[in-house]
Formats: sequence, structure tokens, C-alpha cells
Amino acid sequence: MPCPLHTTTPHGANVTPTISQTLSDAYATGLEPLDAQRLLLATLEFGDRGRAWLRVNGDMDLTQAELVRFTADCQRRLSGEPLAYITGKREFFGLTLQVDRRVLDPRPDTETLVDWALDVLMHTPHPHVVDLGTGSGAIALAIQHERSDAIVTAVDASTDALAVAQANADRLELPVRLIQGSWLTPLQQRFDLIVSNPPYIAEGDSHLPALVHEPIEALTSGPDGLDDIRLIVAQSPACLLPGGWLLLEHGHDQADAVAALLCRQGFVNVQSRKDLAGIARCTGGQCKPSPEEG
Ligand code: GLN
Repeated sequence: MPCPLHTTTPHGANVTPTISQTLSDAYATGLEPLDAQRLLLATLEFGDRGRAWLRVNGDMDLTQAELVRFTADCQRRLSGEPLAYITGKREFFGLTLQVDRRVLDPRPDTETLVDWALDVLMHTPHPHVVDLGTGSGAIALAIQHERSDAIVTAVDASTDALAVAQANADRLELPVRLIQGSWLTPLQQRFDLIVSNPPYIAEGDSHLPALVHEPIEALTSGPDGLDDIRLIVAQSPACLLPGGWLLLEHGHDQADAVAALLCRQGFVNVQSRKDLAGIARCTGGQCKPSPEEG
């Protein structure tokens, strides 16, 4: 990108540009203004001061080191790398998570799943919850943060992902139990809630080239994208308490297919919830309550 690393005065001395000049140069490369501002705030380690600070301090000069770092970060963003991997941070459900390319960049739409999880747990004291394919730990940590009485387990097949989730749990001081394994296979107990945002993109899907920076095993799941969801649905009844819920995030056009899988597996109260864009993005159902509960 043409963002200059330094400008030269008529006398030949190197000077670094001001904050506002640096941002204008970055915008001229095609970078989204919001992304450029966030990257610059991260470079300046002023993340908490917000973008207004940049405007007020537009005349301030950058140091050469700051300019080098900002330029490199802009190049990463222009090549399509998620902003969260570059800054190393992602806000999710009021928590600041540390993320990198070992885990999926948690999406705001996944907060829909957390909202639903909290709703179904509302009347259950000390609920046992498991998050399958936890990645950064986003869902498990958000639930644990909102419900300190919950006993939350998080599973992932990837030891890399578990290292990220453990670091987040430690930093946020949330007592989530992390377990390595495939979906429910490492677990012997029953839960009030199983929640998961599993991989659900079909192999060969046209969206995949835009997601090359994220771990492929967190994204794709067989020819129709439903292989992992089928496994989770099949394994869940043996790991749910009577009346327990299974809530799944899925692709924009998979709600009917996931609902059909849940119904065929004997789940009741099968329903979907919409994401921020109004798309049915999560589908779930309840394990039949035991006869004495009606
Ligand atoms: N559960 C994690 C999230 O929602 C990871 C999901 C995944 O890797 N498919 O961010």
C-alpha cells in the first residue's frame, strides 16, 4: 500500500506525519475508516480512549516505530485478516477476549445464542452447561460471566484452541472447565444445556475464500455443512437431563434442516432465533421432560 513510512522535508530530514495525515493516507489505500482508526488506537495503545481521542489529537506526530507498526497492521487488514487477529482482541458479550489465528474470530451474531442460552437457564439454579467447540471460549465464558452459579464445561478438539480459551478464562477469572475431545464423546455426565456454534459451512462454499485467515476446521463440515451438527444432535439426548436444551448456531439457510434433525431425534419445543440481521441463525430443542414433570 502506498502509505509512506516517512516523508522527507525540503532539507532532507525525515519527519513522521501527524495522526490525521496518517489516517488520511490509510483511507486513501481503501481501508475502512473505522478499521484504520481502531488499528491506530491499538498501535498507540490507547484502545480505551476511543476514536474521539484521535480527532482531538489529530496534530500529534507519530513516532517512526508507531508508523512502521501501523503501516504493517494496515497491510494485514487490507489482505483480509480479521481486525481482531491484528489487535489481538475481540469484544464479545461485554467481555474482552484475546483471539488469534488459532481460533475463529467470534461474531456478534453468536451473542444471539448466548442470549437464548441465558433465557432457557433463567429458572434453573446452578445449571450444568457445556459449550461444544468452544474456540476462544466466547460462549462458555459469556455464560459463566452472566451466571456465576453455573457449572460450565467447554470442549474443543483443538489443543491450540483450548490454550486460547484457557488463557481467556484465567485472565477473566472465570472458572470454566476445559476438556479436549470431539463433541460430547469425552463427557459422561448429563447437562441442563448443550450449546454450540460448530463448523457449518459446506466444503467448497463460495464464502470460504474470504475466510482464509481463520482455522478451516472451525468453518467447514462436510458437503452440506451439517456433518458436525448431525453428530451433535445424535449424541445429545444421552447427555441431557430431562427437559434440558440443545441450542445450535448454523448457516443462514440451515434452520429448517437443523429443526428437522432435532425433531427426528425426538426433541420437543423445536424453534429458531434470529441473528442481528434478522436471519434464523440458531435452532434448538428440548429433551422430553420426564413423565413426572409432565
Ligand atoms: N464457539 C466459538 C465461537 O462461537 C468457536 C466456533 C467455531 O470455531 N466454529 O466463537
